[in-house]
Amino acid sequence: MIITKLKIRLYGDPVLRQKSLPVKTVGPAERMLIPSMIETMYQHKGIGLAAPQIGISEQILVADIGEGPVVLINPQIIKKSGSDKMEEGCLSIPGIVVKITRPNKIVVRYINEYNEPVQREFGELFARVIQHEMDHLKGKLIIDYASLSQQIKIKKHLKAIEEGRLQDLPQTAPIRSRIKEELNKEKGVSA
Ligand SMILES: [Zn+2]
Repeated sequence: MIITKLKIRLYGDPVLRQKSLPVKTVGPAERMLIPSMIETMYQHKGIGLAAPQIGISEQILVADIGEGPVVLINPQIIKKSGSDKMEEGCLSIPGIVVKITRPNKIVVRYINEYNEPVQREFGELFARVIQHEMDHLKGKLIIDYASLSQQIKIKKHLKAIEEGRLQDLPQTAPIRSRIKEELNKEKGVSA
């Protein structure tokens, strides 16, 4: 199998604001793409990645919170409950975290990489990362949840990402192996 390392699209790239199209069926193109998405997620120490983040406007996301990778295609939330507030980062917006309140339990209907329909419940961090990636499929980003005062604070930072001046930005990179520690501190993770 050929696994290609894919380039992560950064804030300012129009593909991140597009609505992704549903996948009709998992074919050869998707079967090639999915392992590369998983590899790219690991390479960037993310716990999730959505297809628009590598420039593909299709409803595909991958996630791994330390229990092995899962692939969700055409995901739909059919039930949600509870609520949690947590800091989230995004591989497409390096250096920025936003506190986001989301349901902490969701039931999702999707098809997997084998074209099988699945209905599964996700909780806590898993629920969070899937909702984060599903936002990507709708063209929504973490900065859309920022308060007005935070939006003003991060304006220059976003401009630097947009203009490719990443070297000017402070370092950030939550590490997968730190997930548990991060969770205990109620800190965020990137996806
Ligand atoms: Zn993201």
